[in-house]
Amino acid sequence: MKTEVLKKYYTNNSIRLKMIQSALNSYHTNKTVTTQKSRQLYNQRRRILKKYSNIESHKSIIKHSNLYIYKLKQFRKIIQEGPDYVCISCALALFRNQVIPFIKEKYSKEGILSQIEKHIQVNFNNNSSMQQQWICRLCSDKMKKQQLPARAISNKLEVCKIPSELKRLNNLEKHLIALRLPFMKIVNLTSGKLSSRLSQKGTKGPLHCVPSDVQETVTTLPRPVDKSMMVRLQLKRRLKYKAIWEEQLINPTDVRDALLILTK
Ligand SMILES: [Zn+2]
Repeated sequence: MKTEVLKKYYTNNSIRLKMIQSALNSYHTNKTVTTQKSRQLYNQRRRILKKYSNIESHKSIIKHSNLYIYKLKQFRKIIQEGPDYVCISCALALFRNQVIPFIKEKYSKEGILSQIEKHIQVNFNNNSSMQQQWICRLCSDKMKKQQLPARAISNKLEVCKIPSELKRLNNLEKHLIALRLPFMKIVNLTSGKLSSRLSQKGTKGPLHCVPSDVQETVTTLPRPVDKSMMVRLQLKRRLKYKAIWEEQLINPTDVRDALLILTK
């Protein structure tokens, strides 16, 4: 009997509509105590659930905003100080977490080498003794091992000025006089709306350094007629390849001048 009714319900459209209509009518007109009670219970349950979910969402909003404010405070605290801490040994400007207070007794106690002592002395005189002095962790570790830190100022490490002859070279001219030509695959580390020129780059896969014979390159360049002569030059990855990697105008006189500076 039941299966027959179900079969009619699923196959015959008009019968289905009739059945739904009659069910709805009986629901609305049925006002016995049991149905009323069950309806009441159902509505009550819905009200409670709604209230509960409201409270929960409010709670989570407060929780998240608190977390946000906390993180913002942390960030502001971190960026409050810039790289204002100068290492006494290597004179690098560092952040607070990269340096430790410099206490001379800590290092001299263990019988430090005379060279390092002298090195510290030199820098002591440069700085005013009133200020708190800092030393970076790397220098500190080296000095505790009684070694001179590799990047200490007393090693006279400095970047010299680039001569103007080298500065004015363009990209392709630099290629001509380079002893090693590096080949690598460069990828953008960040993806998204940021322009590819601005994004941080990284290398992927192997990196090849190909030695190039500068002597041969320069002697094959045409002899310049005057100082302003330009030559159109194409750089290929291999001579037999058709594709051109880079094409630019170069000045052979500039290349020669740069080489003279480098061989001095
Ligand atoms: Zn240092």
